[in-house]
Amino acid sequence: MNMNIAVIKGDGIGPEVVTVAMNVLDAICEKFGHTIHYEQLLMGGCSIDATGVPLTDEAVSKAKAMDAVLLGSIGGNTSTSPWYKLPPNLRPEAGLLKIRKELGLFANLRPANLYPQLNGACPLKEEIAKRGFDMMMMRELTGGLYFGERRTEEIDGVMTAIDTLTYNENEIRRIAIKGFDIAMKRRKKVTSVDKANVLDSSRLWRKIVNEVALDYPEVTLEHMLVDNCAMQLVKDPAQFDVVLTENMFGDILSDEASMITGSIGMLASASLNETKFGMYEPSGGSAPDIAGLDIANPIATVLSAAMMLRYTFDLDREADAIEQAVVSYLDKGYRTGDIMSEGMKKVGCSECGRLIIDFIKKE
Ligand code: NAD
Repeated sequence: MNMNIAVIKGDGIGPEVVTVAMNVLDAICEKFGHTIHYEQLLMGGCSIDATGVPLTDEAVSKAKAMDAVLLGSIGGNTSTSPWYKLPPNLRPEAGLLKIRKELGLFANLRPANLYPQLNGACPLKEEIAKRGFDMMMMRELTGGLYFGERRTEEIDGVMTAIDTLTYNENEIRRIAIKGFDIAMKRRKKVTSVDKANVLDSSRLWRKIVNEVALDYPEVTLEHMLVDNCAMQLVKDPAQFDVVLTENMFGDILSDEASMITGSIGMLASASLNETKFGMYEPSGGSAPDIAGLDIANPIATVLSAAMMLRYTFDLDREADAIEQAVVSYLDKGYRTGDIMSEGMKKVGCSECGRLIIDFIKKE
């Protein structure tokens, strides 16, 4: 296959971790006989320095012409970097909001899985952690409370703030279809999370999800109220496969799910639109405190690249090869500083990449 990938290395540890992910992708291409054309683009602080804006229209057009975007992270130290003296629409994060909007990325995917080798980092009780978990948090990204009408006004002499939570059936249907499609590539279970005992938007959510489910007879669907889901995530995370939910519930629950894995440096993510196009990036930020030291954990970005192969290019075997190589790397006791524990072998960012590539070649 011939793949066209826009690469945005970004700021902080972005260039280090994305370089590792590109090397891993190149090794996969060599092993499985594919080719990749990379188009490197600027976004974030590095784009501000070079062009005066966090993302140029030209970079957006180039990204749109590719099959997928592989992103590192953007931004600097928000207290000391001169980028944060600029007006909000010219700061690094404005580039991220712009590209998400321009690419129509409405579905956010965040896998949260606990590797048995990293059980010790999980903050849950040992008896829960040892069962492990492997779930995909799927959050609607462009609707709901964060995008509804809002105002603050005085009503009958009392200051009152109003936010509106709106979803239409089309917005719900398209994310539900994505959720079921993803479940078909996994353990074929969807937990749809809502607050249908109170909210109209949730009752519509539940109705449309039930309709979409009819097209996926192999997938088991369950509905769960959001308050119960927040409890179940810490009580019995092993029960979840795909967790499908709206914007605000997903914002909160996906952070909770990340937290119980114990390491930000291991967490991949993807944002998808209605086509196969996606933007793939680590869940963490640009970690300016460790940038340039070759000590960042590149695995979140490497696993994001694996998600790209699976969800944009349907290359499941190749994605499996990357994920398996990461497992072998952990099995052999290699650790970057963020997940280091007693008796393990400490490695840096580029060394971690070289080891993962060795495992890809061997397996
Ligand atoms: P952060 O995720 O960058 O860092 C939090 C902590 O986690 C730091 O101690 C950091 O060293 C560590 N860490 C993060 N990724 C790591 C990795 N791969 N390996 C080892 N350690 C890692 O969050 P922050 O400090 O709140 O934000 C720093 C900058 O990143 C800010 O400018 C913020 O706006 C930006 N940010 C960008 C994105 C993005 O690009 N999508 C997301 C979140 C934050």
